[in-house]
Amino acid sequence: MSDLLKELNRNTFTGWLVRALGMPNPVNLLRQDSGYSEYPFKGKTALLATSGGYLEGDVHGMLTSGGADVRNAYNLKDSERPDILVVEASGMTTVEDYPQLYEQLQPLVRRIAVNGRVLVLAPLPRQAETAVAAGVARGLEGFARSLGKELGPRGVTVNLAYVARDAADRLDMVLRFFCGPQTAYVSGQAITVTAETRAPAELPRERLLTGKVALVTGAARGIGLATAQRLRQEGAELIYLDIPTAAGELEKVCQKLGGTPLALDIAAEDAPQQLIAFIREKFGGLDILVHNAGITRDKTLGKMPVSFWRQVMQVNLASIVAIDEALLKAELLRDSGRLVYLSSISGVAGNFGQTNYATTKAALIGYVAALGSQLASRGICANAVAPGFIETAMTDAMPFFTREAGRRLNSLKQGGQPRDVAELICFLTSPGACGINGNTIRVCGQGLIGA
Ligand code: NAD
Repeated sequence: MSDLLKELNRNTFTGWLVRALGMPNPVNLLRQDSGYSEYPFKGKTALLATSGGYLEGDVHGMLTSGGADVRNAYNLKDSERPDILVVEASGMTTVEDYPQLYEQLQPLVRRIAVNGRVLVLAPLPRQAETAVAAGVARGLEGFARSLGKELGPRGVTVNLAYVARDAADRLDMVLRFFCGPQTAYVSGQAITVTAETRAPAELPRERLLTGKVALVTGAARGIGLATAQRLRQEGAELIYLDIPTAAGELEKVCQKLGGTPLALDIAAEDAPQQLIAFIREKFGGLDILVHNAGITRDKTLGKMPVSFWRQVMQVNLASIVAIDEALLKAELLRDSGRLVYLSSISGVAGNFGQTNYATTKAALIGYVAALGSQLASRGICANAVAPGFIETAMTDAMPFFTREAGRRLNSLKQGGQPRDVAELICFLTSPGACGINGNTIRVCGQGLIGA
């Protein structure tokens, strides 16, 4: 479904009227068709604001090795508009440290380029030595989220990473994702980076998933298809799973992209066994599993037939848990594996008419937090992705006004594309994302719902 408001704004005859009515004029978000490269920041100016904390040296080196022209506030020329701002705040532990946030950033913040990227690196509150230090670290999240709301209309995304003291070596891929075009629709997020999960021997910077076997459920269309495409682009061997009635679509996808189709209803009683037999026979093991397939059956609870409740529970949660249990029991998920689950902002905030759906999507948030730590010693990470309003068949089916409200109620004033979700999933499946485990990250343009 096209974004009518964007089109009216671009049109010479209607643009003035739309603006006169005070309606939003969503910026064209910068996206990239190609995959990751060795020098993602080539030609970019990165401004590094430092607190002299434990991440200072590492961050400078990482930006430089990614090809950025790294500056500080003192050597940025008046005419320059930085594409990237990294706020290294790992040294902030007292209330007296806050004024430097204002002093360093206030004069510069309006100069950040359209479609720029801001990443705040904060100390991990649970490692803080005093209650004040924990509070100061957490305060940075309020700063980042507010800045995201201020800069979002210009297509600038602002995110924060809480980084554990021993996790500096896990930051390279985090910087590459959050300071790159891949994060066009991820804003206002706070993630945690730790060294609790074993790191893989190799951390590639291009063709990130070469040699990995990945399975995406619900891969015939929408977010699942975009994800499969994206993982394939990074070199993964793909298994595309969808319901038997979508077998024709799956075949077409396989012919176009290369890979193996699997027509299977994940809600079928014997689905886990079928899946295990298939993986064992054809691939011998699995490195990446994206639990993307999901359904909605909306009704307010008082009017909801039991079939709606049961179907959603079965597809969105019970089948996922059953497949995971079978996969782990059969020892088919390889070390350094990656599990990604499609949650939803409905799971974060709840949603009218979605008690069934929101229960399953919120359950996944709790599930990854626990599962991630259980599997960390094997280097396996489990994370959830919570999309906001993404332009797919699922959101096309919404009534006009609900759809229009969903599209605009975020800092970027527009809906996201399946590719935006795929980018976040791709990042989480990469070897370099070994510091991120048990997180739920929204891809919602900093949606106001549940913010
Ligand atoms: P979609 O309806 O466009 O695609 C879902 C795919 O899953 C379809 O190809 C469908 O055939 C498949 N599927 C459904 N039931 C299945 C089953 N039992 N077995 C195998 N395959 C099955 O959905 P989408 O918008 O691409 O969403 C993908 C995921 O993202 C879902 O889990 C959804 O809840 C979540 N999500 C989407 C949005 C959004 O805005 N589109 C927002 C939040 C969360």
